[in-house]
Amino acid sequence: MIAGSMLMDVCTGVDQNESCELAQVGRKWQRVEAEALYGQPFAELMFRSQNVHRNNFDQNHVETASLLSVKTCGCPEDCGYCSQSAHYETGVNATRLMDCSDVVANAQRAKEAGATRFCMAAAWRSPKDRDLDRVCEMVSAVKELGLETCVTLGMLTPKQATLLSEAGLDFYNHNVDTSPDFYGRIITTRTLQDRIDTLKHVREAGIKICCGGIIGMGERVEDRLDMLVLLADLRTPPESVPINLWNEVNGVPVIDATEAPDPIALVRLVAIARIMMPKSVIRLSAGRRSISDELRALCFFGKCEFNSYRGRAVDD
Ligand code: SF4
Repeated sequence: MIAGSMLMDVCTGVDQNESCELAQVGRKWQRVEAEALYGQPFAELMFRSQNVHRNNFDQNHVETASLLSVKTCGCPEDCGYCSQSAHYETGVNATRLMDCSDVVANAQRAKEAGATRFCMAAAWRSPKDRDLDRVCEMVSAVKELGLETCVTLGMLTPKQATLLSEAGLDFYNHNVDTSPDFYGRIITTRTLQDRIDTLKHVREAGIKICCGGIIGMGERVEDRLDMLVLLADLRTPPESVPINLWNEVNGVPVIDATEAPDPIALVRLVAIARIMMPKSVIRLSAGRRSISDELRALCFFGKCEFNSYRGRAVDD
């Protein structure tokens, strides 16, 4: 663990007394720097993450998003944590792509419940063009309700990303899931580079990126830090960074290796994500209901937002 006094050097390179809000979007991070942040005395780390947050966001604002699974299960990918992969027997029922009118009705209810963003998830490796047309219709219809829109559909071609952008899509969710080192132990059917390529297409189409990962799958702390370094070092870090806690799903390979993260380790991770990506919204997403109110409050103090989920067969 690296002494706290080194933090300011690695964080700002400016002044021992300056705070990390000076960290620039677009700066390059190294694992050793992330470790230095992670090893700070807890109170110091929380203070710094609060400072970064207050300098970039309304300190008391909580962003509320709602997610609907618009097409569940039957996915040909083998993500080792996922209840929707066709590779595993998880007991989750497959569904066809929902009708646009049903999606809009769900979005309307989410809006009335206070959501400002509505995310639509489909369990695909990548969308077929005819399916994408239907998703574009959903995006436009949800947007007309006055909600921000987000979809997660798997890998995209540049043309598909452009079509989603033209339909009015605000955010595309596509997670890197974990560190480059650990990635191959979780997924074998597509590479991390495949994911980065999709993020590039999304970015070039003018859509904002929602990209994060999952913790509690048997990875080391170093893997969690490397994942944050990967995200923070993207040319433009994701505007939205979901940190998901793996929910125990019977029938998937990850269940044999899973280990719930230490609660304070989770708060530290949220806090350093906040510092490393000062302009990004850090959101505690899947799995947040499995933790106590007190831990959620600490994560909020470490400055994350919360997603809420609704709809069919979403694992939270
Ligand atoms: S691509 Fe998505 S839906 Fe398919 S197995 Fe992986 S996480 Fe599950």
